[in-house]
Amino acid sequence: MKTIVANWKMNVGVRESVALARGTLLALRGKPHLPDVVVCPSFTSLGEVRKVIARSYVSLGAQDVSSQDQGAMTGEISARMLFEAGVTHVIIGHSERRNLLHETDELIAQKVVQAFTHKLVPFICVGESKKDRETTHHTEVVRAQLRVALSLTDRKQLGRFFIAYEPVWAIGTGVNAGVQDILEMHQFIRHEIVEYLGDRTPAFGVLYGGSVTGENAYDYLREKEVEGLLVGGASVKLTHMTEILKAAQSVLERQSS
Ligand code: PEP
Repeated sequence: MKTIVANWKMNVGVRESVALARGTLLALRGKPHLPDVVVCPSFTSLGEVRKVIARSYVSLGAQDVSSQDQGAMTGEISARMLFEAGVTHVIIGHSERRNLLHETDELIAQKVVQAFTHKLVPFICVGESKKDRETTHHTEVVRAQLRVALSLTDRKQLGRFFIAYEPVWAIGTGVNAGVQDILEMHQFIRHEIVEYLGDRTPAFGVLYGGSVTGENAYDYLREKEVEGLLVGGASVKLTHMTEILKAAQSVLERQSS
């Protein structure tokens, strides 16, 4: 299976989110080989998008979640609230939140706990900076991010999850990572997770994110180790998103024949 996650960020309001959700459904209609698709609108658009995708193959994701269960946390949205709003998936630890909003690995670990506690499937984002890659510290950095992110979760609470490998230098820059680098990192991530969680490891997938387009999506998705894509910029342009979904359908069709 392949999973395509659309991260609409703070780019579109309710009306455009509804149009994107409708367009996404249209792009999938009548196709025999469907990827799992998760759309992640802003909090304010969740309710309307939920209505559009009801009873479809498309799932509803949030772009973030509070690290706390409830309480005096003005402006925060808890995992329980997201669940109540029909959300099934949540992006945690996106590099924009790490870098612009100073989220730490420890805070991200608390958010992961909240997601599992309230039965949300987390997309845990990890990835190195340009400097880390240039100084060949990328695997070390990703290992530390993975371990801390899962460090507070009781092994018995673990549910299905995804790791989204998103090198910071590739996000929103138009400079996408090469297939070989991604394969190496995905294998590394898979190995690290299994080593860290041992025989308690639940089903998990490893996604790639970073300047994915309709043109490069197929080359990533045809690789077994790339279990899906987290798409930012291209996901708010319906023609680009449709191309990415087509690429996923072609790969799935090929695999089934
Ligand atoms: C992202 O927001 O996670 C992302 C990968 O963005 P973009 O596709 O624009 O690089």
